[in-house]
Amino acid sequence: MFSKNFSVLTLLILGVTISAYVYICIYFNKTENQIFQSYVNKLTDEYNFTLDIYTKTADLLFINDINTDEIKQILKKAFDSNTPEEKNIYRTQLLDHLNNFYSNIKNYDFRQLHFHEADNTSFLRFHKPEKYGDNLTGIRSSVEYVNKNRKSISGFEEGRIFNGYRNVYPLFIDTEYLGSVELSISMGAVMHQLEQRLHQNSQFIIKKSIVYQKVFDDELVNYKEWNINDDYMLDLSISEDCVLYGNISDKYIRFIKEGLLNAEKTGLGFSLQIWFDNDKKIIAFMPVRNFDNEIAGFIFSLTDASKVTANKNYYRIISVIFIGLLAFIVFFIFYYIYTDKKIKSMIVYDPLTKIYSRRMIFIKLEEEINRYLRYKNPFCICMIDIDHFKQVNDHYGHLAGDSLLSELSSLLKHNIRISDSVGRYGGDELMIIFPACNEESAAIVMKHIQEKIRDKKFRYVESITISGGIAMSFDSMSNCDDLIELADQNLYKAKQSGRNTVIY
Ligand code: GH3
Ligand code: MG
Repeated sequence: MFSKNFSVLTLLILGVTISAYVYICIYFNKTENQIFQSYVNKLTDEYNFTLDIYTKTADLLFINDINTDEIKQILKKAFDSNTPEEKNIYRTQLLDHLNNFYSNIKNYDFRQLHFHEADNTSFLRFHKPEKYGDNLTGIRSSVEYVNKNRKSISGFEEGRIFNGYRNVYPLFIDTEYLGSVELSISMGAVMHQLEQRLHQNSQFIIKKSIVYQKVFDDELVNYKEWNINDDYMLDLSISEDCVLYGNISDKYIRFIKEGLLNAEKTGLGFSLQIWFDNDKKIIAFMPVRNFDNEIAGFIFSLTDASKVTANKNYYRIISVIFIGLLAFIVFFIFYYIYTDKKIKSMIVYDPLTKIYSRRMIFIKLEEEINRYLRYKNPFCICMIDIDHFKQVNDHYGHLAGDSLLSELSSLLKHNIRISDSVGRYGGDELMIIFPACNEESAAIVMKHIQEKIRDKKFRYVESITISGGIAMSFDSMSNCDDLIELADQNLYKAKQSGRNTVIY
């Protein structure tokens, strides 16, 4: 009963401990994912916040300084001109008119002020006034969108010269559509703001395919290949050096490449733990999309990995505690099973002779008596005593005596039937129970045993003899004592008659 309760209890404790550990593993894993995601989220939030402020500023500049009657009249005249020379006059007029304005907004991070005609032809680039007249169809989705839909738009886009955050606005005189104008921020300005907010090293990388598709050939010098992954390029106007220059192993470069490939498929940002300059860092990548909603590049930031490391350390400590606890529980279970078995075996078996203990042989005897009282099927017992055992102890020592007792017990065990029982009654006295057996049959078995003993060479003693007293069940017996007394009397007679004999 105790053993069953114990099993249930230990299984319960083991189950609870393992479940708790599994839960903690899942929890830590989830926390780690959340921590990694938090680096991407922080980058994205700061990026969106920065863009929002620039867009609002651009809106204000457009309303106040560009969408004026004077400018729109110049544009109308320019776009209605019949000759390129005439158009040039108005282009110069517009350049003069907004020259100061453009110089001022440049000090506040605006880089491009660009007017376009309704058919997407570039009319005047304040950042490159000598380049005009090229058609931007198929190159500048933002301009195409505004000229087509006559609605303003903002977002990232690579251009013929620079990339940047475009804010493109439609221009009307009353209901007559003139064309569009763009007020753009450089990616460098956005990166500068991000670095100030995040206090982290960050960088913008743009897809090489987009650069080669959009940028004027003579402007490609503004870009160079990113040394980590040559599918991407660095915009030299933002930074000349890759922030990942330094000690980063090929293994982490491979991880970054795989991460970028995956992110291009999923469209989601990601972060990784890397070893950089002999330090653990988290590198978080955020996709930058252009107007077509395709990924044009990524912004990444490098942060120290303290949050991830702290989480890992907690996990390690908890793991050690749980594994220790589990080891203790398992040890305790095995220890319990071992001692329980040992105790049980000590109760059932005699430690020296490994045959039934006195307690157990009495239990067996009682069972046999009860069976006899019910079924009246006779059985016998035989009390056995080694002859002159004291002399063995005296001559060869007690160890030899112990050995003899154990050897003799083993001999008895192997020369009785499986249904018979043999136990140590006490000292050098042993008892055999022969179920379903009369005195004659028991005497035959005992005779056989005596012969075996006669032939056996014991370890320390050349030869020994035994005396035995057999008693058979009888109707008037009520308990073990009656039968044992009878067997004892016969044993006594055997001793009296000169030993080495079995009496019944
Ligand atoms: P007898 O023929 O009359 O039986 O002579 P005996 O010398 O065998 O006398 P008895 O049976 O009275 O003595 C039993 C002895 O067995 C006494 C004790 O020293 C010895 N003995 C009892 N238990 C052990 C034991 O576990 N180990 C050893 N070595 N000796 C034991
Ligand atoms: Mg004896």
